[in-house]
Amino acid sequence: MPELPEVEGVVRDLKPLVEGKTIERVMLSEVVYNAATLGKQCIVKNANPADFELVVSGMNIAQIMRRSKYIFFHVSKDEESFLLISHLGMSGAWFVVNHLDEITEPKFRKHVHAVFTLNTGELLVYADIRRFGELRFIKELADHPPLTKMAPEPFDDDACDYFLAKCEQRKYANKPIKEVIMDGQVISGCGNIYATEALFTVKIRPTHKTSELSKECKIELFEAIRAVLLESIENGGSTISDYRSVNGGAGNMQDRLKMYSKKVCPACQTPTEAVVIAGRTSTYCPSCQK
Ligand SMILES: [Zn+2]
Repeated sequence: MPELPEVEGVVRDLKPLVEGKTIERVMLSEVVYNAATLGKQCIVKNANPADFELVVSGMNIAQIMRRSKYIFFHVSKDEESFLLISHLGMSGAWFVVNHLDEITEPKFRKHVHAVFTLNTGELLVYADIRRFGELRFIKELADHPPLTKMAPEPFDDDACDYFLAKCEQRKYANKPIKEVIMDGQVISGCGNIYATEALFTVKIRPTHKTSELSKECKIELFEAIRAVLLESIENGGSTISDYRSVNGGAGNMQDRLKMYSKKVCPACQTPTEAVVIAGRTSTYCPSCQK
């Protein structure tokens, strides 16, 4: 699943390609429409597909930003501002092309679910193989309350204190530390890959109970998370399974990962072990991580 660095990469790629352009029309896939007729929501959330197409048409894309693992398209029409929010789920990908045939990987070309025709004639395309991604059109953040509960950006000055305070809450204190750092209400944008890496860096076992870690240890862990997220941003994110940056581009952080899905510890050569925490496989070194 794309985490903060991968989403940051998508945003950096999209900015020069679509900011300032206007969405002339929107076409959603048959799959999206069929789900709606069955009373389900596929990708487009909280809106009927036809209404979504209508309301997003004519919107000018003023700015694109990342917040946590979300892409925020700040759009406006007739001097009124709205947000089009994209979450990539497991395998969402954006493309900016002149024709759909330019999407070279068939698995993405076959799973195009939203085509935004821009005033330049280009197509801003959202493809999603497994369809866990989301597109949500809202007036403001309060219209979708989970967005207002997100932790600060990990690079913000108050993010570490926020994390430490959250760890004290009973809701989190008794949970394994890995589950806590992957919670978007505790730290923004840190998922399985970077949580695994940061815990290896500071030699903490992912199953360690949060309340049993010292404050110093938690600060060290937070700094390791921040460092690995930054390193990944600088390296274009990790290209793992179905994650791609814009137009099928790839990052190279996957080559720098030390513990995520490794069979042997790179520090001591001990075979790694794996445990499932919060539904995600957590790899760790039984010798280095206590
Ligand atoms: Zn080791």
